[in-house]
Amino acid sequence: MPRLSEVIAVLETLWPAERAESWDAVGTVVGEPDQEVMRVLFAVDPVQETVDEAVQLGADLLVTHHPLYLRGTTTVAASTSKGRVVHTLIRNDIALHVAHTNADTADPGVSDALAGALDLRVVRPLVPDPTDPEGRRGLGRVCEVDPPLTVRELAARAAACLPATAQGIRVAGDPEAPVRTVAVSGGSGDSLFEHVRAAGVDAFLTADLRHHPASEFMADRAHSPLALLDAAHWATEWPWCELAAAQLDEISDRHGWGLRVHVSKTVTDPWTAHAASTGPSPATALPRSASRAPSPSDTPGAPN
Ligand SMILES: [Zn+2]
Repeated sequence: MPRLSEVIAVLETLWPAERAESWDAVGTVVGEPDQEVMRVLFAVDPVQETVDEAVQLGADLLVTHHPLYLRGTTTVAASTSKGRVVHTLIRNDIALHVAHTNADTADPGVSDALAGALDLRVVRPLVPDPTDPEGRRGLGRVCEVDPPLTVRELAARAAACLPATAQGIRVAGDPEAPVRTVAVSGGSGDSLFEHVRAAGVDAFLTADLRHHPASEFMADRAHSPLALLDAAHWATEWPWCELAAAQLDEISDRHGWGLRVHVSKTVTDPWTAHAASTGPSPATALPRSASRAPSPSDTPGAPN
């Protein structure tokens, strides 16, 4: 049975800490280097629900994509949610290791797993890592859609192939436009808009898109039919857990470790329900009381 330090050493070969962004907080958060590891669980979020799942499973190591503490803290008291995570982990002899932006840019990385889940053929990174002479590492991926789909069909495929969330997939742009090439980026991708525009793709699939960045992006794309597809952040990164688990399984076999490697079944997307709009269109059906100008009698305290 390998020791934690040996398992961490192979995780570091897959996702070297020095390839993480400078603001990131990756690596081992909890764990005794000499403890033995038999069972490993991969999850997106180091939250109480996934830690409880690790306890139930009898896991010795939880590997998550998101950091537990991204900024400095002065407490791990169990009265805080993150402190409770730390306490539960230590009390149950479970180590926690994080691979975040170093897993985003890895080859294969988070966006390869996202492309794979949608059966897209990866052509190249959207933003290549200049330190990779082979040009395979980097942020996001540019993919071919073969045979081409419409935006609507691509959204339906994403809705069917990614784990189910309340949000589903939102689309900006013409649903009937053809998509031959698509850029994908797991997690929040609106910082990559400039690269998406330069890549000359037909669509961009990512998560966490907000009103102003999305609306300005659509206005600035000029006459190109470039569409946006917005999925739930957790759903776009969950496929990486399966990819990472398969990578560790393969390494475990090679070393004769016999690790039991699992992928979290807990949905940690914070959104739990979605109501599709059934209200009136403002152009045709706003109730008259909502659209007319206020009369003096509507103003409280106005003289009659
Ligand atoms: Zn993320």
